[in-house]
Amino acid sequence: MANDAAPPVILWFRKDLRLDDNQALTAAHRSGRPIIPLYISEPEAAGTGPLGAAQAWWLHHSLEALDRSLHKRHGRLMLASGEALEVLCALIKESAAEAVFWNRRYDPAGISIDARIKHELEKQAIEARSFGGQLLHEPSRLMTGNGTPYRVYTPFWRALEGGGEPEPPLDAPAKLRLASQPKSEVLGSWKLLPTKPDWAGDFVDLWTPGEEGAQQRLHAFVEDALEGYKENRDYPARPATSMLSPHLALGEISPARIWDATRGLSQRVPAADIVHFRKEIAWREFSYHLLFHFPRLASANWNDRFDGFEWRNNSGDFEAWRRGMTGYPIVDAGMRQLWRHGWMHNRVRMIVASFLIKDLMIDWRRGEAWFRDTLVDADPANNAASWQWVAGSGADASPFFRIFNPVLQGEKFDPDGDYVRTYVPELRELGPKYIHRPFEAPKSMLDEAGITLGQTYPKPIVDHASARNRALAAYKAIRDAA
Ligand code: FAD
Repeated sequence: MANDAAPPVILWFRKDLRLDDNQALTAAHRSGRPIIPLYISEPEAAGTGPLGAAQAWWLHHSLEALDRSLHKRHGRLMLASGEALEVLCALIKESAAEAVFWNRRYDPAGISIDARIKHELEKQAIEARSFGGQLLHEPSRLMTGNGTPYRVYTPFWRALEGGGEPEPPLDAPAKLRLASQPKSEVLGSWKLLPTKPDWAGDFVDLWTPGEEGAQQRLHAFVEDALEGYKENRDYPARPATSMLSPHLALGEISPARIWDATRGLSQRVPAADIVHFRKEIAWREFSYHLLFHFPRLASANWNDRFDGFEWRNNSGDFEAWRRGMTGYPIVDAGMRQLWRHGWMHNRVRMIVASFLIKDLMIDWRRGEAWFRDTLVDADPANNAASWQWVAGSGADASPFFRIFNPVLQGEKFDPDGDYVRTYVPELRELGPKYIHRPFEAPKSMLDEAGITLGQTYPKPIVDHASARNRALAAYKAIRDAA
């Protein structure tokens, strides 16, 4: 019920840049009070983690999109920067708001900031309410029979699957009562977009940041690619996965909305595809539950036996990896896809991560940091958990001795070389037989394809077989020391 005289409620948007299935927004709407929609650019020093450059690009466009949606409902998104508590207190004073609502975040720094804010606001008799919805289930809800957190994915999945359907998603309120509000900062002044050089030029070909783009992506995926997902998802040249990750990372769509979209399709889509897709959503959930229960996952070896690992950390090798110049085509294609589109296919993420950690023996944290800076879907839980999974140091991780052979992986998952040809144009003229091993191609064939190894395309920076032995020896050393 609208109440014109009511003091406003501040709706603090964070990584939930949507109106659909937004529990805090719905609660604010139902309270009948005028709403002040607010986004705060919090300083890195506050501990929320550095915002990577690629995700900063996304954030700029996502905030614009959210503002447009609010504008259609006769309001605007207010932008402010600084320590969240200070910004909120100043706005409360200015607007006479008596409540602040937000959706919970689950990274360690975010949790501690929010706990402090809640405490301080309550001391001032301001109603501070937080809501779920960024995950399918609250981390405290899914626990083992002993009341401990899950450390292994399969039983976690079984509990998730057997624990009842997630809450059905809430539709965006058709109308909102938005308060006229104090002055906003100007988005452009935050300088989230690259200028010289504009390395994000190709992002626009692929991405539409914002809630509408997320809904379209979900719809297209369910219509065109969900059928066959289980089989196709491992082949990077096929448009087979949802590409919803950047939308999920900034909360432009909720996991419950995605889950809901996969209901009632059994007449048309094989159950195996639906279950497999849901299992991937559950990996995101698992990563968040791990981060919530074991905050050190973000920066330290989950399994501390790896603390003694003798990394080589050669800076020339790291540079070659970052630039996609290792001489292994599938690795180079992945790293260049990352640079060009701010995203990389999951199979290739595993290959390039294995190569960095095991072939080059570079600390997974350096790879994690590079991904954080260059991925539009950089996510504190998924990124750290996945890097540790590949390294072997994580929860339910792939064993360290499982070392991907980049040539065989390329031949298996990119058999015609189409993915490599898209991102490594200097190999475009090479046929499928040698596209993943140009260093073994006869000279005549290289000449015909216009390739001079060491000049137009690098020779391999390491020999995989020897690098593999070197990595296994280093691993044996920490295993024997344990
Ligand atoms: P789909 O196959 O369509 O899956 C749907 C959703 O499920 C994804 O959007 C994602 O939210 C979730 N999901 C899928 N696979 C995984 C997985 N292996 N682990 C956790 N969640 C998963 N994902 C991120 O969102 N952010 C990251 O920063 C990130 N860093 C990674 C780093 C490494 C080294 C590796 C190996 C994987 C990383 N992933 C990360 C997981 C995965 O690669 C991406 O989520 C996936 O490629 C996104 O593409 P999609 O949306 O098309 O996935």
